[in-house]
This record gives sequence, C-alpha cells and structure tokens, in this order.
Amino acid sequence: MKRIAVNIARLLMAVTFILSGFVKAVDPLGTQYKIHDYLAAMGLARYVPDALTLTSSVVLSATEFILGICLLFAIRRRLISKITLVLMTAMTLLTLWVAIADPVSDCGCFGDALVLTNWQTFWKNIVLLAAAILAQRYPLAMPRLIGESNQWIVMNYSAVFILLIIAGRSLYTLPPFDFRPYHIGADLKSGWLKMMEGQDSPYSEFFIESTDDGEDITEQVLTTGGYTFLLVAPHLEQADDSEFDVLNSIYEYSLDNKYPFYCLTASTRNGITRWQDITGAEYPFCNTDETTLKTIIRANPGLLLLKDGVVIRKWSHNALPTETELSKPLEESELGQLPTETVVTKILWILTWFVLPLVLLTIADRLWAWSKWIRKNKKNNNPLINKEDKIMRKKIVAGNWKMNMNLQDGIALAKELNETLKADKPNCGVVICTPFIHLASIAQFLDQDIIGLGAENCADKEKGAFTGEVSAEMVKSTGAQYVILGHSERREYYKETPEILKEKVLLAQKNDLKVIFCIGESLEEREAGKQNEVVKAELEGSVFNLSEEDFRKIVIAYEPIWAIGTGKTATAEQAEEIHAYIRSIIAEKYGQAVADDTTILYGGSCKASNAPELFAKPDIDGGLIGGASLKAADFKGIIDAWKK
Ligand code: PEP
Repeated sequence: MKRIAVNIARLLMAVTFILSGFVKAVDPLGTQYKIHDYLAAMGLARYVPDALTLTSSVVLSATEFILGICLLFAIRRRLISKITLVLMTAMTLLTLWVAIADPVSDCGCFGDALVLTNWQTFWKNIVLLAAAILAQRYPLAMPRLIGESNQWIVMNYSAVFILLIIAGRSLYTLPPFDFRPYHIGADLKSGWLKMMEGQDSPYSEFFIESTDDGEDITEQVLTTGGYTFLLVAPHLEQADDSEFDVLNSIYEYSLDNKYPFYCLTASTRNGITRWQDITGAEYPFCNTDETTLKTIIRANPGLLLLKDGVVIRKWSHNALPTETELSKPLEESELGQLPTETVVTKILWILTWFVLPLVLLTIADRLWAWSKWIRKNKKNNNPLINKEDKIMRKKIVAGNWKMNMNLQDGIALAKELNETLKADKPNCGVVICTPFIHLASIAQFLDQDIIGLGAENCADKEKGAFTGEVSAEMVKSTGAQYVILGHSERREYYKETPEILKEKVLLAQKNDLKVIFCIGESLEEREAGKQNEVVKAELEGSVFNLSEEDFRKIVIAYEPIWAIGTGKTATAEQAEEIHAYIRSIIAEKYGQAVADDTTILYGGSCKASNAPELFAKPDIDGGLIGGASLKAADFKGIIDAWKK
C-alpha cells in the first residue's frame, strides 16, 4: 500500500515537472517575460538585467525537466526527493503569496500551454507538496528504472536535450511549439472581425497604426487579400540589426511582387529614425502595442507572412528566408503555402530522438541486469559446478557499537565511514548497529545502499506501558533496517530467554526489520564439549518456529561468548567447524537450499589481522564486530578482508 502511494506520488510529480519544464523551455523568452512580470510586481524589474532573467528562465525550465526525469527513473532517489521537497515548499509559499496578493494574472507555471488561475496553481502545488513529502519519507520505495551505472547517461542526455535542442534552438530560431494566438495557421482576419462584432477574441489588443498620420490601418492590413509581410520589432533600439541587408532584400522582393510590407514596432520616432540610419530601411513603420508584438513572435526582429489574413510563416532574424527561396513569386513557391510540418510531426520527432533512445537504453539496461541474474542462478543450479562457487548468500560485515559513544561522536564515526566507503566501495554488505538514540540522526545522511543501519535490540512487546523500552516499530521508523537480537550480553545481563527472543524476532519481522540473530556457547560449555547442543537449542528456541520464507530473512551470528571482547578468537578451523554444523542443522530443518543461502557471521575479537583467515572459510560469511567497529579505519580493515 505504502509502495503504491509513493509511486503514484512519484509519477504525478515526474509528469508534472517534465511537462512544465518542457513547455517553459520551448519558449524561454515567454518565461523570461513572466519572470519580469513578477519582478515588476515586486518593484525590482529595473534592478535585474535581461541577461539574468533570460538565464534564470532557461535554468528554471531545465531544472524542472531534469528533476522530473530523475523522479521518473528514480535516479539518486534520496537526494532528488529532498531537492523536490525543498523546491515544492518554496513554490507553494510563493504561489500562496501570488494567490493572495494577485500581482500577476497567470502564474505561468505551464507557460502559454495551459493557463491556470492563481488559486488553481496554489491547490495544484498543495497536492504536489503532499506527494513530495511522501516521496521524501520513503525514497527507497521508488524502484529504479535503470541501474546506477547508466543513470548518468539519462541525466546528461536529458540536460543536452532540454538545454540545447529545445531551449537553445528555440532562442536561436523560434519556439517549436507555439501556444499563442498568433501561431502558424491562426486566422487573424476572422478573429479580428469577430472582435469588431463584439464577440470574444484573443486579438482585442491588436491594432496597427501608421506612424505617418496615426491612422488605424488594422482592417486594411488584415482584410486585404493575398500575401502581406509583417516585420515585428517590439523595440528597434534593442533589435538585432545583423541581418538588415537580408531584410532589405525581402522588402525589395515584396515591392517587385506587389506584396504589402510593414514594420510593426512599439518604438518611438527616434528609435525608428536610428534604425533607418543604421540599416537603410525604406519600408513603412507602424505602431502596435508592445506586449502584443512580444506575443506575436519571440524574436526582435521577427518576420511574419500572412495569406488572406492567416499566418502561414514565421521567421526569427537568425533564420530568414534565403534568396533562392524567394526566387519565385509566393503564389508559385512552397514558401507561399502553409508548412507541411505539423504539431504531430514535431511530436513524432521528439518521440524518435528523445523518448525512443531512453526507452531503448532502459530496455538494454534491464535486459543486462536480468541476464546477469540468470547467469548467477544458472551457476547456482548447475550440479557440475563446485559447491563453493554455487553459493549465493550475502557476505556481511556488521558493527555492534554496544553502549559506546555519545551522539556527536557516533555521528562523526558514521559520517567518516560513509565517506570512506563511498570513495572505496566495499565488496560485501556493511551494517552498523548503534544505540537507539543515534539511529534517526545517522539515518539522515547514511547512504543505505552502501551501509545498512540497525539497532542493537528491540522490545518484546508491540507498544504500551513499558517504560524505557523501544519497540520494533519505533526502530523501523528511524530509518533503520536491521536489529541485533539474542546477543549474549542481553541474554546474560538482561535475562533474555529464548521465549522473549522468539517474541522479539516475530515483532522485528512484522516491522520489516532484518534480524541478526546471535547464538554461541560459554567457556564452560565449550570446555564440556556442549557447543553444538547449545547453538542448536538457541536456534530451536527462538527462530526455528519461523516459516521458510521468514527464516530466509534471518542472518545468524555465531559468537562464542568466551571470545567476545576478550581478545581470544576462535581459530578459523574451530569457527568453520561450528559454522558448518549450524548450516547442517538449518539444512535438516529447512532443506539444503535454505541452508546454502543463509548468511552466518562470526563474532568474537574479530579484527583486520584475523578477518582474512576467518572469512576464507567456506561457511563463514562475514563478521559481527564489536570493539573493532568503533574506529572507521579498524572496521574498514575488516571490510577489506573481502577484497583479499
Ligand atoms: C560482539 O559483541 O558482538 C563482538 C563480537 O564483540 P568483539 O568484536 O569486541 O569481540
């Protein structure tokens, strides 16, 4: 249930972020204008240069898009879910302010593609914030779509796609998708006529006034049949003049073919004169509302071609039509018709060049992981393969801090270990079991893909009036995954009987904790040759009641009491002998396959110097380490025994 909820939340956020990042990146200038509107509402617009607002627009859209992709693929789950939560908290607060203060009419979260009211945006963010809290609480419940080693490809590919192919190309030419009322195919003439009849129309702000006599020539421009060129330059003072000769030759072409040509601008008389001086422009100039001009085309200047009042072409100054394209009258050339490229062909292009490679990469990655798993399994089931090679069980080195270190020292040790093992990946599972009070703090930063976290004990009661006890559920809620049960110190000093331990094991498993169950004989029992009897009774008393499925989740730690903290280690041969015996009684109870898969650790004065010899034994799968787990270097030395 929890997994389903987290994954619904993850998908909801992924789809929303990808969509909103994409539609913003499609139109970076539109997003920049929106940022400018916000700054203007706060009275800050004049202090922030355009270059900064444009960069922020691109960075914001790319961040949203890449965050969405990371959530979809479950890349760096813990970090990404934290970043998402911080972002959603900030966005929810911002949109609450926008909804209350109403500084802008539309928040712009989906660009021009989907316009929401400010309150709709706020409620949308409340839903996303709840999703972000859930994902941050259980990041590991989001299954990865792609292995860790290939995640960088997905991230870099997405970054290149959104920054260069979408945002960069859109800035250089024009947005590939145009959600505004002046898109290719828009019938300006009909829309304008509707407005004149008093009907609703998106062209209510659209007018064209001659700069010569102030006459409104909108009707003339829109209703004259045939082709009309409109050069759109909101501010001639800031317009790019590098292509002025191309613009002049397009004007000459329009004169030769008797196509009307107007330059629409919101510039002053001085701005127009300056432009004429620099470029030698001879075309007529008209005044139009600045915001409308910025809405018509995302380029300064940009060129529009109308046919019978319908927009049939749009060009940025960086990609104007060439001389060859204009060698024939428009009536006879391809340029004079609506382009064949439609929204559907553009979507297909994106599916082919962005979505398909990622789908193929994911399939290849999963197939590779699956074939690796099959190969391992085959090896395990092949009777011709040596028994030792078949073994699949996990190798583990687990630390037992006991009652050592205050919170600060414990955190420092866990941090040091975390950094050390991140830099030099272990060849085995690593777990640290700490006092209860350390757990929640350490769980915050520990990379639990590398180091598991566990408690040293838990209560034998579910909850209630048991002053001073800590339940399995409480342990689990800290972020821990393991718990040590049945340690000889608990059996001896706190009189934990097999019955009590049986309850603890059941409660731990009920709360999804992996149990490291300790067994081992005292010195007298060893001297009396009773070690096998003792370990068998301990297993029978507390864990042999479990179903096969539940027993498979148990890790056994054999710890001869006479070797714990005494400096006396069982010899590798002594340890192997009893480990083999423990495995044989597990085989008797649950069958050979379960016995072969059960991890059995050795504990008792294990250190870097004797670990390699102990771990080399076929039935010893690692160690439970007390004293030597209190210093990162000592503990690392034991972990490294698996590399030898
Ligand atoms: C232990 O207490 O589990 C243990 C093995 O301790 P040490 O390594 O200090 O002997």
